[in-house]
Amino acid sequence: MNVIIFGPPLAGKGTQSKNIIENFGLTHLSTGDVLRAEKDKNSELGKKAEQYSKNGLLVPDDLVMKIVENFYKLNIGKGLLFDGYPRNIKQAKHLLEFLNTDNNKIDLVIYLKVPKNILLERAKKRALEENRKDDADADTVITRINEFSKLTISAIEYIKDTGVKTVEIDGTQTREDIFNEIIQILKK
Ligand code: AMP
Repeated sequence: MNVIIFGPPLAGKGTQSKNIIENFGLTHLSTGDVLRAEKDKNSELGKKAEQYSKNGLLVPDDLVMKIVENFYKLNIGKGLLFDGYPRNIKQAKHLLEFLNTDNNKIDLVIYLKVPKNILLERAKKRALEENRKDDADADTVITRINEFSKLTISAIEYIKDTGVKTVEIDGTQTREDIFNEIIQILKK
């Protein structure tokens, strides 16, 4: 089973991804985590990506597509949880196409929905608690939310239109309630 988890920044994708991989045995691919690890290694890829990420912008498609393809090849046969990928229609097409060439597919899309005003409140709180720079700066969070609305929502629609089951979950619920909903969906 391959699952995509979508949602705006600060929707709680990271927390729920952790719950899903621990309880359903999926392998987690967070392109954001990979890019942060590359940045910490000070690799060329990490440095290039950081120029975009630090301002809340999406990094160029070719960089993330390569990450996803490499990860896929290293994890052939495993059920994957895509977290933060795809972020636009080009990436969505790329993902569906290369899965298709391997006789594979996306089985489910989970869309964690949270209104903008609540995301901004969360951003204020996080600025005090976390050390992720792109979560702490209000302008950067706003840019990331806008990137999501402008580009990523259409990627969700694109995948949904190919017939993949897509469920929307109210991301303003408690973490526990969100995960309980996810459990019910994944059990089916
Ligand atoms: P995330 O941890 O998923 O919120 O990602 C953090 C940052 O990494 C984003 O703001 C982007 O700059 C970059 N990033 C992560 N995934 C992608 C992707 N699929 N396409 C482009 N940029 C990405």
